[in-house]
Amino acid sequence: MAETLNAFDMAQQQFDSVAKMLNLDPGVIGALRWPMREFTFRIPVRMDNGSLQFFEGFRVQHNDARGPNKGGIRFHKDETIDTVRALAMWMTWKCAVADIPLGGGKGGIIVDPSTLSEREKEALCRGWVLQMWHNLGSRQDVPAPDVGTTPQMMGWMMDEYSRIVGQYSPGVFTGKPIGGGGSQGRTEATGYGVIYTVREAMKHLNLDSTKSIAALQGFGNVSQYAAIAFVEMLGGTVAGVSCWDRHDKKSYTYSRNGGIDPRFLLSIVDGYGTIDKKAAEEAGYIVEDGEAWISKEADVLIPAALEGQINRETIKKMSGRVKIVAEGANGPTTPEADEFFKANKIFSIPDFLCNAGGVTTSYFEQVQNDANYYWERDAVLRRLDIKMTSAFNAVLDRSEKEKVYMRDAAYMVAIDRVVKAMELRGWLNAGW
Ligand code: NAD
Repeated sequence: MAETLNAFDMAQQQFDSVAKMLNLDPGVIGALRWPMREFTFRIPVRMDNGSLQFFEGFRVQHNDARGPNKGGIRFHKDETIDTVRALAMWMTWKCAVADIPLGGGKGGIIVDPSTLSEREKEALCRGWVLQMWHNLGSRQDVPAPDVGTTPQMMGWMMDEYSRIVGQYSPGVFTGKPIGGGGSQGRTEATGYGVIYTVREAMKHLNLDSTKSIAALQGFGNVSQYAAIAFVEMLGGTVAGVSCWDRHDKKSYTYSRNGGIDPRFLLSIVDGYGTIDKKAAEEAGYIVEDGEAWISKEADVLIPAALEGQINRETIKKMSGRVKIVAEGANGPTTPEADEFFKANKIFSIPDFLCNAGGVTTSYFEQVQNDANYYWERDAVLRRLDIKMTSAFNAVLDRSEKEKVYMRDAAYMVAIDRVVKAMELRGWLNAGW
């Protein structure tokens, strides 16, 4: 029977292998292999049917040497402490590689949110804050939405925190709705961030972006804005996008001769990222099987849907033209596919660098909340471009200097920055 992959084992293994390359002190390795703080608690909720139910909640603060912990709260029926630990550790590396002054955290509740009424959801959100508020705050730990949680839920959580501490505290949660303390530009931030890194990779590889073709998997938040930016910012062509069809319960790839019009597809996609098949066909789009996206004659592939999509099987379908794989999704490439990229000189932009635009803009949201001064959309995106470009170039420099693959270089940059902050704060002499 196949062994189930424990996410935290995987996160520790990835860390161990880079720690070895960096020759880290065993004590430092010990400190970073485990989260600094973990909270588990039970949240009581009076259900609509009158019964009292308890839900298990978590928050893990992996490392806050570089600044307050940052990371989403997931509502998922299969949530485990190990998944939360792994995701918290990955957030430490993501914030460090993006060079934003935040640490890594993650939280969750074991619950299927679709089974709850609005009132029950609100009670659960407020209950989570009641358990955690002592250890939250814009100088301690700043959660955000994630799988199964929404901007509205962040609004309730922020309100509960503000109520308990007795003052309006918008900077304690990010991903809030616009008008409720949210930031302009957050919706497009991750997708645009992906394309800022693709633009830099093209400069490095001497590719003309106006002659380049991309294919994307997914047409949700990340992919929609990555496709728009690829066409409008880089002047390139998008050969096709795929998405999961909620009604037919299968995935399709949408393409059109001369390239798709991402703004048109945006006008016919629903809130779950399912494109209206009939409307697309009427507009002359070609509809193929969901896997067809990967075999498009493209220079750039952008997986922006699920994990494990570029693997031993799907790499066989890739066209010889592909030069860049930009990981919009988290974990879309398996280790076998990574080996294939190395052997075939395909340039890979690793997920925690490529999709860091979201957390970077969350950081901007917190900065605006704390200053009580809100920036225009253009200012947000301009600052995002500066952060993503310098993050990309730091990783590229490291990769060239050490002659290592971009993913290893990204880990090296991130881990070095965290260790440096621990050292500067005197944590490595800890005698207390
Ligand atoms: P989303 O739910 O908005 O969109 C997901 C898209 O993937 C939808 O279009 C869906 O139809 C499609 N999809 C699902 N299964 C598919 C399949 N089998 N084949 C083809 N398409 C399929 O999600 P999102 O926010 O765009 O996130 C996408 C990925 O990016 C996830 O891995 C997420 O963790 C990661 N990510 C998102 C953000 C963000 O700010 N949204 C930030 C960092 C990382």
